[in-house]
Amino acid sequence: MTGRLVLLGTKGGPAIRPGGPWPTSTLLELGGRRIVIDCGLGVTRGLTYAGLSLKALDLVFVTHLHSDHVLELGPLIHTAWTAGLATPVRVFGPAGLNRYWQGFVQALEFDIETRIDDEGRPDLRQMVEIVEFGEGIVIGDGGLEVRALRVDHPPVTECFALRFDCGGTSVVVSADTAFFPPLAEFSRGADVLVHEAMLAAGVERLVARTGNGARLREHLMASHSLAEEAGTIAARAGVRRLVLNHLIPADDAEIGEADWIEAVRKTWPGPLTIGRDGHVLSFGGDQVGNREDRHETGNAEEPNA
Ligand SMILES: [Zn+2]
Ligand SMILES: [Zn+2]
Repeated sequence: MTGRLVLLGTKGGPAIRPGGPWPTSTLLELGGRRIVIDCGLGVTRGLTYAGLSLKALDLVFVTHLHSDHVLELGPLIHTAWTAGLATPVRVFGPAGLNRYWQGFVQALEFDIETRIDDEGRPDLRQMVEIVEFGEGIVIGDGGLEVRALRVDHPPVTECFALRFDCGGTSVVVSADTAFFPPLAEFSRGADVLVHEAMLAAGVERLVARTGNGARLREHLMASHSLAEEAGTIAARAGVRRLVLNHLIPADDAEIGEADWIEAVRKTWPGPLTIGRDGHVLSFGGDQVGNREDRHETGNAEEPNA
């Protein structure tokens, strides 16, 4: 099975800073399908950097409706449309996704109507199928099977990990979640587990710099996983590679890759990738993409991720 996983944006949370990494989005190419997972700010640019023609947009999944996962969904599809999208796009997400999409096309009504009349484009609103899903099988037809598992991301109840199986290759993304043991069974034997991760020392530094620190710490600890906990899920599941993603903090000058590795090695001895924007993981080989635009900057405050 040929395919690749491209980490387009790897930071947790919606805020961006000069030179820093971008919010969450991922491209999975598997069995000839092009699957975009989450649409944080920067997804459109990330996809074009990864060499994907936007006309070829195919399947899109949104794990939950926090803005660092959905903010650029509408702009991505609209931009693909202006780039010549000619085939329907299916977008899968939790309850509420349809409301987001209807609100987006309403906000862009003037532009959409104008381009249909003036440029003779097909009606964007008829080219997009929104599918709201719950736990269980999301796609079960033909070569690609996709399953969803509700995870633990308070106060959001509609948040789902996703498992993609195609031609003997399996990839699991955790979505945003506190330590959630059922993810281990869900990820059993996967080739790649992409798990969100937070570094305890980094959270303390974040909290110390932020006015409303105690409240922030409470939110982060209740709804996200420490790197060690991501390692525990990977070890219990027996996956072939763990990829840490949705990093919190992602742009602290005092926190480097070695710190993440040190934390996760307490629980996970196997193949490991610490996520960076533009990182490409090919099935059958692991290589770093040539887009290394992650620099270290300060960090002020972090809205909910
Ligand atoms: Zn998030
Ligand atoms: Zn979230």
